[in-house]
Formats: sequence, C-alpha cells, structure tokens
Amino acid sequence: MSTDLDIAELLGSLGFGEGDRARAREHLEALGLTHAKKRRISAAKRPVVEAALGQRFAVLCGAELCTRAAARGRELVVAQPRILCEHCGGSDNRKAFRRLQHLAEAHGVSRLVVVGGSPAAREELRAGAPEAWSLRLVDGTARRTAREAQVDLVWAHLVLVWGASELDHKVSNLYTEAPLPLRRRVVQLARGGVAALLHAACDHLEGPSWRG
Ligand SMILES: [Zn+2]
Repeated sequence: MSTDLDIAELLGSLGFGEGDRARAREHLEALGLTHAKKRRISAAKRPVVEAALGQRFAVLCGAELCTRAAARGRELVVAQPRILCEHCGGSDNRKAFRRLQHLAEAHGVSRLVVVGGSPAAREELRAGAPEAWSLRLVDGTARRTAREAQVDLVWAHLVLVWGASELDHKVSNLYTEAPLPLRRRVVQLARGGVAALLHAACDHLEGPSWRG
C-alpha cells in the first residue's frame, strides 16, 4: 500500500518555514524528485528527499554555536520551529552538552566530577551525558573527607564545582583549595543551570588556565 504526502507539509515537518520552502522545492525539482506542478509526493520517496535536502541545506536554530558546529558549508535554513534544529533540537541543555562533548573529546577529557547542584540537576546531567563520559556526582550537602576529595581530584580530568545551590563550603573548599596542578582541573560556577555549568566547563577548556 503506497500513500503520498503533501510536499509543503513534508517540508514543514523538516523545519522549512514558508519562506524557505520554495528553495527547497527548487532543489528537489532540479534533482528530478518532483515537478513544478506537483503538490504531492510518494511517501516512499521521503528518505531520498530528506537525504537530498540534508546535503544542500543545514536546518539549524540560528544559534552561532549550532551554525559553527553543524553548517558544514551548507546553505542555512532557520528551523521552524527551533526544536527542529538538527544540532541541538532547540534545547539549551543539549546545545551545551554537544559543545562540551566536542571539546572534551578534543582535549582527551572523559572523567568528570560535579560537586554540588540539586538532585534534579544531577539527574539532568546523568541523563544528558554522552556515553563516553564517566561522571561522578558529589552531593554538596553531604560530608566529604579530604581524602575522598583528593581521590576525586586525581581521578578526574575536570572537576565542576557548582555553587548554584546545595553546596556546603566545607565541601567545595576541598576542591577549590587543592594545590595548583590539580586545581587547573577545577572549574567554579557560582550560579546558573545545567547549560551554564557545561558552558563554563567549555570556556575553561578553551581558556589559558587549561593550557598553562
Ligand atoms: Zn541549534
């Protein structure tokens, strides 16, 4: 049983707003996938259409980060709605995870300790972290010994001290007052959510203290 699809609706479902559908159509016509007079297209052609559009157009949310990471020389289309961004799915958290994922890989960073944050925020981190990461999430309100903190510091490539909430200074000081070579791994963020924390880690990896 074969069905067919409305071309405009198909383009819309792929993130092409009304203003961008004409150039998408032109491209499909040039490839012989449809004709100027046709309104509908066989559903079986959908994968071919998606691949053809994906080669020519980058459907992205417009954030510089996504453009830089994912445009790859293609013609830019601003995703409508933004949630159809190929790179971040319109999510600030996902965008931040993707940015840190690329940088961490480039710097050989895969073991991360996060100190502090609410249980819900820690859950978000756990859920969004790429498979390649080993995460150690430290409750900033529970007692932690100097010895335990030392083990964390030696194990981790990066230690994120997240002072947004639920962080006891007795715990955070164990990390932020570590001796210098280890302290280079420590990133502090006083406030902000998951995305801000991940961006702070990225800035650290791109900054002078990491290289030094
Ligand atoms: Zn995006």
